[in-house]
Amino acid sequence: MSNSEEHPSSASHPVIVSRPDHNISRKDIDPDALKVLYRLHHHGHIAYLVGGGVRDLLLGRKPKDFDISTSAHPTQIRKLFSNCRLIGRRFRLAHIYFRGGKIIEVSTFRTISEFNTEDGPIRSDNTFGTPEEDASRRDFTVNALFYNIADFSIIDYLDGLNDLKAGIIRCIGDPIIRFREDPIRMLRAVRFASLLGFSLDAASAAGISTLRNEIWDGAVPRILEEIVRMMDRGNSGAALSLLHQIGLVESILPEINSHIRKAGLNEYLDILSRLDQYGRDGTILKPWLTIAVLVYPLYHSGITGLHRPDHLKSAREVLSPIAERIQIPRKIRDTIRQSLAAQHRFFALGDRRYSRQAILRKSYFLDALSLFEMIAGGTQEGRNLISSWKEIGKGVPDRAPRPKRRRKRRRGPSPNQPSIPR
Ligand code: ATP
Ligand code: MG
Repeated sequence: MSNSEEHPSSASHPVIVSRPDHNISRKDIDPDALKVLYRLHHHGHIAYLVGGGVRDLLLGRKPKDFDISTSAHPTQIRKLFSNCRLIGRRFRLAHIYFRGGKIIEVSTFRTISEFNTEDGPIRSDNTFGTPEEDASRRDFTVNALFYNIADFSIIDYLDGLNDLKAGIIRCIGDPIIRFREDPIRMLRAVRFASLLGFSLDAASAAGISTLRNEIWDGAVPRILEEIVRMMDRGNSGAALSLLHQIGLVESILPEINSHIRKAGLNEYLDILSRLDQYGRDGTILKPWLTIAVLVYPLYHSGITGLHRPDHLKSAREVLSPIAERIQIPRKIRDTIRQSLAAQHRFFALGDRRYSRQAILRKSYFLDALSLFEMIAGGTQEGRNLISSWKEIGKGVPDRAPRPKRRRKRRRGPSPNQPSIPR
């Protein structure tokens, strides 16, 4: 990537990097996203690839998704695409559907972020804006770059290219205002920094340190979602270290923070290195596993040294306050609790007190074993145990068994006999 103009961009004079001077090639862009961009363009609208798609392609990374912004209004977009649905209550966005469940999201340029919740639902058209305003309502400079399908250039209103080169996550505007507007941006900052190996600029880092306890002013389900997202792409160790360093572990998971203060981060980093191997292989990690891995060291320190620990009770006691605070859904909570409480059985493979069959029959056997792989995979002894359990567990179906259907009793020809539901 080379920047054709050396002076920094200013809102009214964006830096434009023409095609020969950057590395984004159309063959790296999803063909369906390209179709959408071209159709908008051929109908006279401005059409840009935006957000993480542009950022990741400039860095030579494979984007997770391709989002589009356009001057076309939602109703105009719907007229152009038969496979389109408009969604969103505050802001209308277009979802364009393709084969295999793929969705390309198209938004109209606008002046304010959907996370600005001060004035309630917005349905009028007065939020539509210019490309420049659309860049400014985004979260970080590196997320506000546009790829213009009209001439294949990059448009940079906010000096994002220089931050991309320098490896910096920088808030657009005053971090205090932007984090107050949407506190979840604090977690997004940590997510992008750890994912890309970037650092936070001083003002953004200071903003997080100041406002970290206001994270609860954001929507709680988004807190859980962001934590899971930052752990599942192969950089969970870096993410936890940065979260801890900046004080967000203390604000969100104080129990884990106290444990880290006593025992250090190394135990976590060891377990998370195995989670990261899976994340890097592209394995889709189940959200419960990410959370279970975060809770395990705390759970384990609580049962260590107890004469006859009640594993399930301890797992419940450790998990409950965390699960209440970050609103972990009940089903996920159950899987985490059962899997935590099952770990000692995997360690005790040769111990006659525990029946192998009993754990094999549990609906959560494979889930608990996948947690054991993270916990025990760091030593040769642990890896031997994992292989043995995998061998023992061959053929166990990867889902909870369905309740058995009762067979109809055959009691001779008695057509009038009613079947009694049990
Ligand atoms: P990922 O690789 O995880 O998809 P992304 O940068 O594309 O990263 P998305 O959550 O897909 O992130 O959002 C797409 C774009 O929308 C972002 O790059 C950013 O420009 C904008 N955006 C998303 N969330 C916010 C937010 N909370 N505040 C401001 N802008 C946001
Ligand atoms: Mg994205």
